[in-house]
Amino acid sequence: MTPDTLTRSYEDLSTDEGFQFRFHCERCDAAHVSRFQPDPPDAMDGPLAPVGGLFAGVGSGEPATSRPGHDGALHAAIAEVTEEFQECPRCGVLVCGDCWNRALLLCQKCAPGVAARGHATTPRSA
Ligand SMILES: [Zn+2]
Ligand SMILES: [Zn+2]
Repeated sequence: MTPDTLTRSYEDLSTDEGFQFRFHCERCDAAHVSRFQPDPPDAMDGPLAPVGGLFAGVGSGEPATSRPGHDGALHAAIAEVTEEFQECPRCGVLVCGDCWNRALLLCQKCAPGVAARGHATTPRSA
């Protein structure tokens, strides 16, 4: 599993309040939504946090995807869903646990052919 695979198959649900991502299984379209990550993190609420409305409007005009914490949040989300999703080494699709054959380490579509014959030819339609 490479993080790059996951980055091509997510929906960005980030808002002004924080970051969240939805990842899709490429076989059955099941979605897994990552944990919501508040931005700024709660840890930043303290004596030094800006008080009042001075900074309240700053974030709203700025797309969530361009905020500094976005990349880190995306990586954290990917790390979270790599436990749910697997990349099939044969056809390269990203699949959820239901579409993954844990015994053969292939997606369910590829797995039967492999199980039947030691080395099935890989259909390449693309
Ligand atoms: Zn699936
Ligand atoms: Zn496959």
